[in-house]
Amino acid sequence: MHTDPTSLVLFSGGQDSTVCLAVALARGDRVETCGFDYGQRHVIEMEARRTVRAAIIAAFPQWASRLCEDHRLEMRGFGAVAQSALTADRAIEMTSRGLPSTFVPGRNLVFFNFAAALADRRGLTHLVGGMCETDYSGYPDCRRDTLDALEKALNLGMERNFVIDTPLMKLTKAQTWALAKGLGGETLVEIIRRDTHTCYLGTRGELHAWGHGCGTCPACDLRRRGWDEWVASGQPALNP
Ligand code: ZN
Repeated sequence: MHTDPTSLVLFSGGQDSTVCLAVALARGDRVETCGFDYGQRHVIEMEARRTVRAAIIAAFPQWASRLCEDHRLEMRGFGAVAQSALTADRAIEMTSRGLPSTFVPGRNLVFFNFAAALADRRGLTHLVGGMCETDYSGYPDCRRDTLDALEKALNLGMERNFVIDTPLMKLTKAQTWALAKGLGGETLVEIIRRDTHTCYLGTRGELHAWGHGCGTCPACDLRRRGWDEWVASGQPALNP
């Protein structure tokens, strides 16, 4: 029986969830990861998950023994119900509600329900996600208010004491790069730059300074601007 803190990281293979994975490993948790297959247009996201995990295990031996099982949760039924630009062939645009068409209604609510059910079975106490209200204020299920209410509902409904942990909630994208450097130095920054996948269009393309991607979709735009801001400020490290 172990007494280490245990975390389930919601891990998409993107920049934010990779930094979350590093946060949990660096603080000494035993960590499992889960990924959601909800009919993404891009298998590339699932491939990035494997690549990033392998790169972290190879580069950080002090973390490798605590990076444990990876779970893939099949949620295509949800994807079919909650169609959006990420799960169907729709253009990325603003909708009449003022939300981008990339918003999948209720996605994080559903993700955390599935994650909590898995964590319950696996005996994991912390659910770690890369939600961020600084950059994604258009996504109501990324806000801490929403996640506080959800944490309460999960704990009432499952008679557990889960913590929904969102270490990036108040950070800008530039600060997320800085945090990566603080956690794992240039090595982790390079893994994120080279191996993570953020682009909505599923484009790998050339390796830009800020990583792979189409360079023009909202996700690439955000990532690029965060990188540029971090570089312009002298690439500081933010210690966790
Ligand atoms: Zn893109």
